[in-house]
Amino acid sequence: MYGQECPSHGRYRRRRVISTQAKTAAFQKCIAPECAATFDVTETLTGCPRCGGLLDIEYEWDRLPVPRSLREFESRWGRRNEPLEFSGVWRFRQLLPFAPDDQIVTIGEGQTILRPSDPVARYVGMDNGKLLLQYEGLNPSGSFKDNGMTAAVTHARMVGAKHAACASTGNTSASLAVFASATGLFQVIVFVGSGKIAFGKLSQALDYGSKTLQLLGDFDDAMHQVQQVAKQQGIYLCNSVNPFRLEGQKAIMYRVLEALRWEVPDWIVVPGGNLGNSSAFGKAFRELRQLGLIDRVPRLAIINAAGANTLYQLVEQRGLRWSDGHPDRKVISQFYREMDETKHRASTLATAIEINRPVNLTKALRALEAFDGVVRQVSDQEILDAKAQIGSGGFGCEPASAASVAGVKLLRTEGVIAPSDRVVCILTGHQLKDPTTTVAYHANDREQFDRVLGSRGVREAPFANQPIVVANEIDRIMDVIRSFE
Ligand SMILES: *Cc1c(COP(=O)(O)O)cnc(C)c1O
Ligand SMILES: [Zn+2]
Repeated sequence: MYGQECPSHGRYRRRRVISTQAKTAAFQKCIAPECAATFDVTETLTGCPRCGGLLDIEYEWDRLPVPRSLREFESRWGRRNEPLEFSGVWRFRQLLPFAPDDQIVTIGEGQTILRPSDPVARYVGMDNGKLLLQYEGLNPSGSFKDNGMTAAVTHARMVGAKHAACASTGNTSASLAVFASATGLFQVIVFVGSGKIAFGKLSQALDYGSKTLQLLGDFDDAMHQVQQVAKQQGIYLCNSVNPFRLEGQKAIMYRVLEALRWEVPDWIVVPGGNLGNSSAFGKAFRELRQLGLIDRVPRLAIINAAGANTLYQLVEQRGLRWSDGHPDRKVISQFYREMDETKHRASTLATAIEINRPVNLTKALRALEAFDGVVRQVSDQEILDAKAQIGSGGFGCEPASAASVAGVKLLRTEGVIAPSDRVVCILTGHQLKDPTTTVAYHANDREQFDRVLGSRGVREAPFANQPIVVANEIDRIMDVIRSFE
């Protein structure tokens, strides 16, 4: 592991003595039951050194000051002049107690909201008030990734890392880049796929001053390369294979519960890419139940884009299950082999979920098992139509986020979700991340439509709100305005 290869890391570890209760009660643990190896939180790992499995952060809860009721968190808001209470992640730090307070890195992440949208509820066939949208686009970098990044960079600081890197379809790099520029703690290199990244996201990495490598390949290629680089150079890796990132992402569920006055909804619906969110949400509810802080759990729906449907294929078509920690490896490797043989690569306008081999697959299987979950796929057409409805319904999101709403529409049609269920969709990223796709959908420009959207099978824009070209003359303008009535 790079811990031994990184001189600055080693020095830092010897010098620094952290003696808080929180530090010693947290540890890393391999999720494979037959291995279950444990490691100190001061180690920097992105997988189990013994078996290669994914790692969880676990806690000895009985040694920690855990609140008796979730309501205790409400009073924190009154102390929002303190940065850790202001943060929508660290306000809940007793539920992710791996870092001493003085090491926590926060830039005001997690000021997000849960609101119902009745126009969107009608669109998907739900009762008024029953469809709620958790708007993670309000984060500092405009996506939910900031919830996880604040935890990853906190851990990076704990272990004395000075260099950090990630592979990204765009939002992870935007998030890491803003944390680096806002704090000055790290030098950052981001790897993005060439030509695949939405403009808003690329502009963020550049503007925040991160070294940006546009790899001639896709996300999976970038992920593969950045792991090599991180290992060889002792650079701290901030992708969601980093178990600390998922600890931060649990807080999205804490805020959903808080907004519902601690009532558990019937469904959580989330787009699935690398499956970090689904995994983190599952862990959040598992722990809350274990701690006796909730008495029921929601069901989970993970929505793939049809053009990037590895999880859907594996779970719904090939019957892959968590199987008590022994998912059938043969099913997975067979599927990946077929992908390679047919040179099939993920392709969707929802670039944030354009993933071939989701890194958190096994954790997501575990979450699906525990929360009676389902996986569905939706087409790019369905995604963009849902996105337009979300926009006119009072929220703005990027294409990947709209997969959640398109997924609810499908699950309503199937009768899996009832109109009276209380459903929370996670709007993972902000509208302004990908203006190219939005404008191509709405603008009255067939050439642009075909170029941007047509290649992904989008044929029409039933909810287009076309801009109206008008001559620079008041009479013509008045003609147009009168025609609205
Ligand atoms: C990263 C991302 C996703 C995918 O989330 P995973 O945790 O990788 O499944 C979905 N939507 C947006 C906007 C994202 O940035
Ligand atoms: Zn292991």
